[in-house]
Amino acid sequence: IIEMETVNKWYGDFHVLKDINLVVHEGERIVICGPSGSGKSTLIRCLNHLEEHQEGNIIVDGITLDKNLKNIDHIRTEVGMVFQNFNLFPHLSILDNLTLGPILTRKMPRLEAEAEAMKYLERVKIPEQADKFPGQLSGGQQQRVAIARSLCMNPKIMLFDEPTSALDPEMIKEVLDVMIELADTGMTMIVVTHEMAFAETVADRVIFMDKGEIVEENEPKKFFNDPQHERTKLFLSQIL
Ligand code: ATP
Ligand code: MG
Repeated sequence: IIEMETVNKWYGDFHVLKDINLVVHEGERIVICGPSGSGKSTLIRCLNHLEEHQEGNIIVDGITLDKNLKNIDHIRTEVGMVFQNFNLFPHLSILDNLTLGPILTRKMPRLEAEAEAMKYLERVKIPEQADKFPGQLSGGQQQRVAIARSLCMNPKIMLFDEPTSALDPEMIKEVLDVMIELADTGMTMIVVTHEMAFAETVADRVIFMDKGEIVEENEPKKFFNDPQHERTKLFLSQIL
């Protein structure tokens, strides 16, 4: 469902993604880890065209992402993204945060959008928060709203960029539990995270990036128990 073929990207002179090759099949769960600045966020932001690459090919659900891409809206609908800092609209109620996208881009009637939104709020277990504003919710609740908001667009792929790293420890589990349930529905997921327990239980593959390169990828068991590269070993020794 995703193909990256010798993708290269620069920020000015800075070579941020180097010859990235990655194929993700429908229903696969990929975890990406690596040191700060290694290009993890940049890589996944290229997949919904928040960033442009300069060389190589990126094909998402049959659509080639390049400068001529006409329907960015279509890609943004197919590929949902959840950020570290939730990025909710602070002046909109939780319900309005969820219905905005479907009403504007999918032209869904408000009542239908609200019914859908409530369904997803049930799924992330906070339907009772629908009429509050983001500032009145805990970080874990806000992140679950952000996940529900993405799901309202009915995406085929979900990208997560360190979804739990801004959360207090006691709220991390409630967000990871929602992500585990989402994985159980068969959603294609790419998750940048250092939550290695999550990677071990959910990921089909773990990818380690360093200095703009994919250094190593493997199924979680092998990745954690028998890393092949020195850089991977060093990284794991620092975070485990
Ligand atoms: P972290 O774990 O800290 O989130 P990361 O692996 O997600 O790191 P990126 O955010 O992809 O790393 O950034 C990779 C490199 O590119 C960093 O050195 C960063 O400073 C640089 N960079 C990121 N965004 C830009 C930008 N818009 N302009 C210039 N340089 C950038
Ligand atoms: Mg990042």
